[in-house]
Amino acid sequence: MKSFRKELYFHAKTRRAYINITSQVEAALAESGIREGLCLVNAMHITASVFVNDNESGLHRDFDRWLEKLAPEKPYNQYEHNGYEDNADAHLKRSVMGREAVVAVTNGKLDFGTWEQIFYGEFDGMRDKRVLVKVIGE
Ligand code: ZN
Repeated sequence: MKSFRKELYFHAKTRRAYINITSQVEAALAESGIREGLCLVNAMHITASVFVNDNESGLHRDFDRWLEKLAPEKPYNQYEHNGYEDNADAHLKRSVMGREAVVAVTNGKLDFGTWEQIFYGEFDGMRDKRVLVKVIGE
């Protein structure tokens, strides 16, 4: 079995962002040379997510509006976690949207359903963040 590891870097200019990272994951998979196996993609931060869904901007605005209803950013003092930090809402949003995606690798490609794409969800941006891509297989 082979394994391959790569970190992707992001720096969103806004507090929240939804970034399609499918092509970067595909490039990492190609670099790995692995044809059959599994590809794990996870946020390396507890205020960001990696998730699989539709590449449709209206849906991304819907996610954002829904997450803001569940865990509004403001007022900051509504959260016990805030004080030194102001990112309690980002931790909660990340928990809802998940830490990682695992995609099957078949014949050297990500084995997606028809509309599936991989997204990086940023909930506490304007800083450097990392995503881990780990591919195992042969
Ligand atoms: Zn925090």
